[in-house]
Amino acid sequence: MQKKIAIVKCRDYKKSTVRDAINRIFDLLGWESSEQGILLKPNMLSARSPDEAVTTHPVILEVLSEILPEKIYIGDSPPGSHKGIEQYWQKCGYSDVASKTKATLVKLEGKSTLFNLNISGRIVSFPVSDLVFTYPVFNLPKFKTHNITVLSLCMKNLYGLISGYSKGLLHTKFPEPEFFNRFIVELYNLLKNRIIFNLIDAVEIMDKNGPSSGRKRHYGYLIAGKDAVCVDIFCAGLAGLLLEDVVFLKIYSAEYGVPDFEVVGDKPEVINNFCPPLSSAIFKIQDKPVLSNVLRFSANRLNIIPVIEHKHCRKCMECFKVCPVKAISEDLKINRKKCINCLCCFEVCPHRAIKIKRSLLARFILP
Ligand code: SF4
Ligand code: SF4
Repeated sequence: MQKKIAIVKCRDYKKSTVRDAINRIFDLLGWESSEQGILLKPNMLSARSPDEAVTTHPVILEVLSEILPEKIYIGDSPPGSHKGIEQYWQKCGYSDVASKTKATLVKLEGKSTLFNLNISGRIVSFPVSDLVFTYPVFNLPKFKTHNITVLSLCMKNLYGLISGYSKGLLHTKFPEPEFFNRFIVELYNLLKNRIIFNLIDAVEIMDKNGPSSGRKRHYGYLIAGKDAVCVDIFCAGLAGLLLEDVVFLKIYSAEYGVPDFEVVGDKPEVINNFCPPLSSAIFKIQDKPVLSNVLRFSANRLNIIPVIEHKHCRKCMECFKVCPVKAISEDLKINRKKCINCLCCFEVCPHRAIKIKRSLLARFILP
């Protein structure tokens, strides 16, 4: 049977609008579950207010907590969560959801199981919360760009199921974007049987330099499907991107083929002038066979780099704490020799004080 994707208009985050849209999605795709409980997995990347379009909007979680008959748990493990997840719950609006509904907020930092994946001949070990194997996952990504994966959608959202600080440390094991994207594909293969449903918050989206400091835009849709790959491919098309423009989708389709799917619901609109992140032009250049040999020697220099803008910095030290290789000093200077360009600092900065810029070589080569 052909897989289905549903796209449904949802013009704002009023509770009645979101409830109507989600009910339509369940009518279009069906909902079956014989489970006692479901784990809602939003994108809770940074302790930001819902109106910044960095995190999955809490009204979506509120509506699901009310209309799904199962017991609801809400959990994610963002980069700095091991230092206090409560501030994320509070700022993202999920504490409110838990106080108004039957939902329970859970930490993914507790009991976990260690997995090993062989990524291009390198063994990568990481823990996944046991809650993922107790309750099926209802995946709730935000439609955003990402400077390492180009887009952050369903498959990338599973990265937050890895417990605690290991996410940052994983970056030290695969500083190359290609390797990170391969990891995202294999992590998806490992966990795909645990995903019961995917629903993307595309009411307010983010383009340019996401996932936390890009441009907020209104799009006005919810997009859903039971197959994460199909939903991600469909969303890439809405953004006007080809499979080969989105690194993890290019890797997935080369290894496992391109799945067929049928689109139901409202007529989809391509997002006007969607602007991919700065890194996407660099990934395209690295793909050119003629250039790749010339550039191999300088792969580390053809890059995007984080730059702290001190006039906007409020010295919260989140970047200092999250850096997996201690490349940021206490006086907030970045040591370029130590920096592996994982961009964790850029993602967690709550005050948009870290910008990303092209390295000298990238500025020279790219227009
Ligand atoms: S300075 Fe930022 S980009 Fe560089 S390694 Fe540290 S967290 Fe990653
Ligand atoms: S750059 Fe951002 S994260 Fe780092 S100390 Fe300044 S405000 Fe905090």
